[in-house]
Amino acid sequence: MTFIITEPCIGTKDTACVDACPVDCIHPRSDEEEFESASQLYIDPDECIDCGACVPECPVEAIFPEDEVPEQWQDYIETNAAWYEG
Ligand code: SF4
Ligand code: SF4
Repeated sequence: MTFIITEPCIGTKDTACVDACPVDCIHPRSDEEEFESASQLYIDPDECIDCGACVPECPVEAIFPEDEVPEQWQDYIETNAAWYEG
């Protein structure tokens, strides 16, 4: 499974979750080129080890396990994965 970053990250994007992740699978980091233009951060579903360490760090409760993403934010499952495709 993976964790998913959802809508509340948009406009917050404070990167608090990045430092908590033991496998560096949350991007773009603030030192990466895409950071300024990205509307939010995304979790790489192929790298996430499902540890949950990022969840309590988020000040706006934007991060959910894939199977607990609220109905209105289901699209974010795809948008997180899409960030890492191709
Ligand atoms: S659940 Fe763990 S591995 Fe996955 S993004 Fe959060 S901190 Fe990183
Ligand atoms: S901690 Fe929450 S709001 Fe901040 S960048 Fe991570 S997901 Fe976005």
